[in-house]
Amino acid sequence: MSRIDEILNQFQEIAASPKKQSVKYIEQGKKIIGCFPYYVPEELVYAADMVPFGVWGRQGTINAAKEYFASFYCTIAQMNLEMGLTGVLDGLSGVIVTSICDTLRPLSQNFRVAVPQIPFMFLSHPQNRKPEYGITFTMAQYGNLKSKLEEISGQKITDEKLQNAIKIYNKSRNERRKFVKLAGEHPDVVTAVKRSAVLKSSYFMLKCEYAKLLNELNTELEKLPIIKWNGIKVLSSGIIMDSVSLLKIFDDNKIAIVADDVAHESRGFDVDAPENEADPLRALALHFASQDNDPLLYDPEIIKRPIHVVKKIKDSGAQGAVIMMMTFCDPEELEYPSLKKALDEAGIPHISLGFDQQMVDFGQAKTSLQAFAESI
Ligand code: SF4
Repeated sequence: MSRIDEILNQFQEIAASPKKQSVKYIEQGKKIIGCFPYYVPEELVYAADMVPFGVWGRQGTINAAKEYFASFYCTIAQMNLEMGLTGVLDGLSGVIVTSICDTLRPLSQNFRVAVPQIPFMFLSHPQNRKPEYGITFTMAQYGNLKSKLEEISGQKITDEKLQNAIKIYNKSRNERRKFVKLAGEHPDVVTAVKRSAVLKSSYFMLKCEYAKLLNELNTELEKLPIIKWNGIKVLSSGIIMDSVSLLKIFDDNKIAIVADDVAHESRGFDVDAPENEADPLRALALHFASQDNDPLLYDPEIIKRPIHVVKKIKDSGAQGAVIMMMTFCDPEELEYPSLKKALDEAGIPHISLGFDQQMVDFGQAKTSLQAFAESI
C-alpha cells in the first residue's frame, strides 16, 4: 500500500469514528470541548490545552429532539440536540454554541436547558463584524469565552499560548487549502469520499497533529503526475457534504469535486488570522471580521458570495456546480436566487438538490446527478 493510501485510510477511519478519537484524547487526560457551527474561535480552546471537537450533527434519525423543535428546523440543529439528549455527547467538558442564524438561537437555549450535564458556553457574533465597534463586540464575547474556558481547563490562556495556537491554526488552514487544490488535480486518487474524510477529520484531531499528517499527504500528492480526468469536474456548495452514501454517487459517476463553497469545508478555512497583532484576542476578532462570502454573514453593500463562487469555479476548472440545499436552512435558501442568477449569467450549469441528515434514500439524488453529469 502506498503512503498516500495509508494516510487516506487513516483520515477515513478518524472521520468515521469521532467517538474513538474522543475516547483516545480523554484517556490521554485531555478535556474535550464541543464546537457547534459556525466560526467558533477554536484557537482559544486549543490554547487552554483542551481539544476542540466539531459537533455538526450526524447522519441518523431524530426522535428526542422533536419535543423541543417544530419540524421545520434544519436537521443539523435538531441532530446536535438529539446527540446531547441521547448521551452521544457525554464525556465533553463543555460545548460552545453560537447564534449566527435564527435556528441556532433556539437551539442554544434548548440545549442549555435540556442537556444540563454538559457545561454550556454561549457565543454571540455581531452582524456588523467589520467596523471597529463590531471588532470590540467580538473581542468582548471572545474574552467571556476565554474566562469560561480557563475555568473548565484550570489553566490560564496566556497571550503566548494564544499566539502559538493562531500559528498552528493558520498552518492547518493553509494545508487544507493546498489539499483542496491537490485533490482537484488528482481526483483519481482522492475520490469525493476520501476528500470529505480528510477535511472532516480536522474537526476531530488536535490541529498540530492534523496539520502534520496533512502536510505529509500534500507532499506525497505533489509528487504525482497530473492525469487527464475522464469524468466531469464540479464545485460543491452547501452547509455540509459528508454523507458517504451521497459522495459515493459522485465517485461512481466520475463527478470530481475540484472546489467547494461548503460551510463545513472551505468556508471555514478560506482566510487566516493575523499573526502580527500585539493582542491575540484582537487577532481572532479581526479574523472573524475578515470572513466573507458566506450566506450566514451580513453583507451591507452587495452580496459578494455569488461572485466569489463563480470565480472559484473558473479558477478550479470546474464545469458546473452541485448545490446541496440543507432543508429548512433559511440563510442558504434566501441567497439561492442571487447565486443562481450569477451562475446563469456566467453560463455555468448547476443543479440544486435537497439534503438533510436523516436522508437514507439517495435514489433521487443519484438520478439527478447522473442526468446532470450527462448534460455537461
Ligand atoms: S445555517 Fe442553516 S443549516 Fe446551519 S443551523 Fe442555521 S438554518 Fe441550520
